[in-house]
Amino acid sequence: MVASKDPAQSKKLTVESQYRLYSTLVQLASKQVNVQTACPFCHEEPETIMHGLVTCFFAKQYWRRSILGFISGQAASFGEWLEEVFRVGSSEGIAEAGMLCWQLWKARNELVWQQQASSVERVVLSARTTLDHWISAQKESLLPSLGVLSPNEGSEHWTKSSVIMIKINFDGAIFENESRYGVGFVARGHDGHLIEAKMKSNAGCLTSAVVEAIRVKEALSWKKDHNWQQVVLEADSLVVVQAIRNPYTMASPFGLLIDDCRSLLFNLNHVSLVFVKRFANKVAHFLARASCSYPNRSIQETDISPELYTLLQSDLFE
Ligand SMILES: [Zn+2]
Repeated sequence: MVASKDPAQSKKLTVESQYRLYSTLVQLASKQVNVQTACPFCHEEPETIMHGLVTCFFAKQYWRRSILGFISGQAASFGEWLEEVFRVGSSEGIAEAGMLCWQLWKARNELVWQQQASSVERVVLSARTTLDHWISAQKESLLPSLGVLSPNEGSEHWTKSSVIMIKINFDGAIFENESRYGVGFVARGHDGHLIEAKMKSNAGCLTSAVVEAIRVKEALSWKKDHNWQQVVLEADSLVVVQAIRNPYTMASPFGLLIDDCRSLLFNLNHVSLVFVKRFANKVAHFLARASCSYPNRSIQETDISPELYTLLQSDLFE
């Protein structure tokens, strides 16, 4: 699509696209917007708020997996249904319902605007993880701001160390079309020489936060399996670094993985976890992306591909 040169036209398009983003098809039709009103998921009934977020068979699958379960009631409108939720739901159930409505609308927009279908597991997991993060963020000590990091954290570039140690960088990737996720690891000596690189990918529809927690856990297990001494793990996920450092347990798959990471860190000797910026993690990022083609591969110094060699070298001269 070619962008309009006319500012008034551009503004009109922006307002209209925003309006389309937040309105159901029935609402759009009532404002004389020329659209088909059939629900984009079931194509059977007009897309009202009540249908899209509650009564469509697609939405029902999500509610059945929620704390509340599916509440049909006798509600004639979304407002009435919400009143029913507030009346019968626990505080956790009500909070999850709010988050699930938001995630359902997000999944609907992804389908309508990007032709991307989301799995039930992914939407429910994403709602719970986001809710966990929100609850954690309400506790002042957990705010993920750069201000709470130590001075040696948040590095923009990978750096050599004057102290003998092993630095492990790791990253994750989600391959939505293949319903897989992948992780990439690289262990280097303090002078930057490659000790080992590794790629792994598995089937599963997980949120990015869960994949980030998995990669920390796997990096810790990697250190443990090799019995490496003096290891620094460099992670580019501030959410995960902060979650591991706080003392709270979150009742979700993400929270349980964070608990595992915390206990591994506590029980392993001579290992620390620091936050680095994304650019300092570009070798691991490359490996994570490549894991889709190489689901379980270990790379030694003698069999580095030219592309990986270039990336490793670029880290040494920045
Ligand atoms: Zn429907």
